[in-house]
Amino acid sequence: MQATKTRNWNGVIREFQEFLPKVKDDSVVTLREGNTPLIEVLTMGELFERGLKIFLKYEGLNPTGSFKDRGMTMAVSKAKEEGSHAVICASTGNTSAAAAAYAARGGLRAYVLIPEGKIALGKLSQAMMHGAKVVQIQGNFDEALIIVKEVSMMYPVTLVNSINPYRLEGQKTAAFEVCNHLGFAPTYHFLPVGNAGNITAYWRGYKEFKERGVTDSLPKMMGFEAEGSAPIVRGHPIKNPETIASAIRIGNPSSWENAVKAKDESGGIIDMVSDDEIIYAYKLLAREGVFCEPASAASLAGVIKMHKKGIFKNGDTIVCTLTGHGLKDPDTAIKSSDKPITAEPELGKVVELLGF
Ligand SMILES: *Cc1c(COP(=O)(O)O)cnc(C)c1O
Repeated sequence: MQATKTRNWNGVIREFQEFLPKVKDDSVVTLREGNTPLIEVLTMGELFERGLKIFLKYEGLNPTGSFKDRGMTMAVSKAKEEGSHAVICASTGNTSAAAAAYAARGGLRAYVLIPEGKIALGKLSQAMMHGAKVVQIQGNFDEALIIVKEVSMMYPVTLVNSINPYRLEGQKTAAFEVCNHLGFAPTYHFLPVGNAGNITAYWRGYKEFKERGVTDSLPKMMGFEAEGSAPIVRGHPIKNPETIASAIRIGNPSSWENAVKAKDESGGIIDMVSDDEIIYAYKLLAREGVFCEPASAASLAGVIKMHKKGIFKNGDTIVCTLTGHGLKDPDTAIKSSDKPITAEPELGKVVELLGF
């Protein structure tokens, strides 16, 4: 058998260059992010009416394990093109992992501020391994964000949080891929909402594809906050946000107004789900072979909540973004599962324990 040379995906900047701000080719910093699979839900279908098609946009399969890579390739490439030697961000974990990796790839320094004790272990290990300077703040994400904004104004270091306009440009490519994989825009798009950048980016992507005549419809944007961190739903910032879904533990989202606009323009909603509903959806996904982190499961938890309200019709196509990989947060995974049984290495005992 002969090896067949297949096409190697070139990363979102090169694949979608006609839809993105120009980047000089020698400044492109990429780990060939994007092109993540759209996975159809199978057995879970029993939970829902027949005729309903649910797809998972599995962003955990990006190079650093979350959708943040789509925005980070743009932000770090632009920083490099503009001659910057360093990037800085505040993070609930995944932004720091992506910033650290893309900075390393592009030969820039990375500085990250994280809330002490509140970020999942996998994410912390990534920032450390890629050589970022990590500072743990004895406070929350919102406080860390205020500090990095100040630092980026005082020193020659580029801010790569989602207020950096290139981040959302990169992130909108996920909507392009959904349309390309389906061949049309879905009826509904469900997302977890934290800092609200991603829902803003997807809406922009869907609108651009429609404006250019690539698609002929738009989805309703369905954003879900965690109950203990639901500033948009409650209509005011939350001082001490709490949720098991650490990636969306944010009390004062940067893209608040744009998220509300995405909801209003698309005829969607921004609602919330409890930690119990999030963990239920998290385990349901894992039982179908798809391992995402808790925050990601807020999207499916939202689908379940909306299904109970009876909003879906036969033939509707629903896409849920699973924002990050389950391995990011092994602690929550282990806490949510049955403990392994310990046994002596003896056939009889093992067979008995296995329940044969
Ligand atoms: C960043 C992140 C979110 C929240 O996205 P926003 O753009 O901040 O709303 C959700 N899930 C995961 C895994 C994330 O890393």
